[in-house]
Amino acid sequence: MIRIEGLTKHFKKVQALKGIDLHVMEGELFAYLGPNGSGKTTTIRILTGLSKPTSGDAYLHGFHILRETLQAKRQCGLVPQSINLDHELTVYENLNIHGKLFQMPRRVRSERIEEMLHYVDIADRRSTPIKHLSGGMKRRVMIARALMHAPKILFLDEPTVGLDPKIRRRIWSLVKKIQQNGSTIFLTTHYIEEAEFLAQRVAFLDEGRIIALDKPQNLMDRLGKWAVDKIVEGEMETTYHASREGANAHILRQVGSLSVRRVNLEDVFISVTGKKVQP
Ligand code: ADP
Ligand code: MG
Repeated sequence: MIRIEGLTKHFKKVQALKGIDLHVMEGELFAYLGPNGSGKTTTIRILTGLSKPTSGDAYLHGFHILRETLQAKRQCGLVPQSINLDHELTVYENLNIHGKLFQMPRRVRSERIEEMLHYVDIADRRSTPIKHLSGGMKRRVMIARALMHAPKILFLDEPTVGLDPKIRRRIWSLVKKIQQNGSTIFLTTHYIEEAEFLAQRVAFLDEGRIIALDKPQNLMDRLGKWAVDKIVEGEMETTYHASREGANAHILRQVGSLSVRRVNLEDVFISVTGKKVQP
């Protein structure tokens, strides 16, 4: 559904993307994970036609993003990283403008707006100006807007950044529902647990390159099932073990304060990059 081949993007001083190759299958929820500045937004902006690549190709449902721009754009909806709704206009009016941009006839448009308002559970706010909504509600309006023209692919750029944990989980449920209804989802995040919870496959991006790509479970299994953390002079040192027994045996050989836990995706990221993903 999404095919990326040798994609690069150079800004004046920065090589933001250094050659990305990636296939995302139909119906997949794919997470593109990396620290701030690793190139996540740049990739999404290129795929959705907001920015041109320096070199390389990309296809959305078979349509080339540069040679068949209009068809490619119709395949996708975008929820950008920053809130770009019209704050003075109501929820309804924001969705209506998007429908007009996609040349949806008036009747179809108003029916679709009602459908989307209920879908993201914000119908009771249809006449509220955006400026009076909470952060979580604004995100839901952005998602409704992106889905107005029934795209096959939904791009979500850091959809839960700045939201509190409860609202974040609500957005996760909505994202899962959208996938269950048949959409392909490409999600960027620097919240590792978000990717671990939602995604079938994840790519780890670091300084414009994909450094690991697989199912979350496979990536974690390669490291080991159990992690033992030890604080040494204020720094955390972690060792990985295939079995709980192995982890326990390791602890018995050590002195100091140690704790054992399951391996998570953050361990994978730290072990492949030597960095923490949280900015
Ligand atoms: P992410 O979304 O992963 O945080 P970005 O894709 O926004 O990362 O940025 C990747 C790199 O490209 C960063 O070093 C950033 O400073 C740089 N960059 C992004 N957009 C521009 C731009 N318009 N002009 C110059 N540099 C840019
Ligand atoms: Mg970004």
